Amino acid sequence: MKLLSHFIIGFILSIFLFKIGYGTTNISIFLLSSVLIDLDHLQMVVVNKAFTIDKILQLNKDIYPEYKQHPDTAYLNVIYIFHTIEFNVVLAMTGILNNILFFISVGFIFHIICDVLYFLLTGMPVIRWLSFVAWINSKRVNKE
Ligand SMILES: [Zn+2]
Repeated sequence: MKLLSHFIIGFILSIFLFKIGYGTTNISIFLLSSVLIDLDHLQMVVVNKAFTIDKILQLNKDIYPEYKQHPDTAYLNVIYIFHTIEFNVVLAMTGILNNILFFISVGFIFHIICDVLYFLLTGMPVIRWLSFVAWINSKRVNKE
């Protein structure tokens, strides 16, 4: 799902949160984190050495055709750490103790739910690992 779509949907939810009494600081943390979670996609940029805007746009364009050609290789190894179940379980637990981390966690989880719904509604394949443990396990299994 595109960043702008995440922002628009997050903004609409923010208006609702404001109406039911949440403060602007908490809502801002929620909205920012629901967009900035995608900073973990920079990992792809570094791995593929796509250090110019053109290369990043090309990389983005190539992901799905590349996946269709080689469904068993490269892009199946994509993992975005902030989008993993394990990271979000730990973040949600720390959110019990700290207000800022709580709203970051809510923003992250909201973003991931939007991503999953987007994949389901568009029928696009999920070509990334959603679990860090499953990703590590796949590396181990491939070596055997
Ligand atoms: Zn995302």
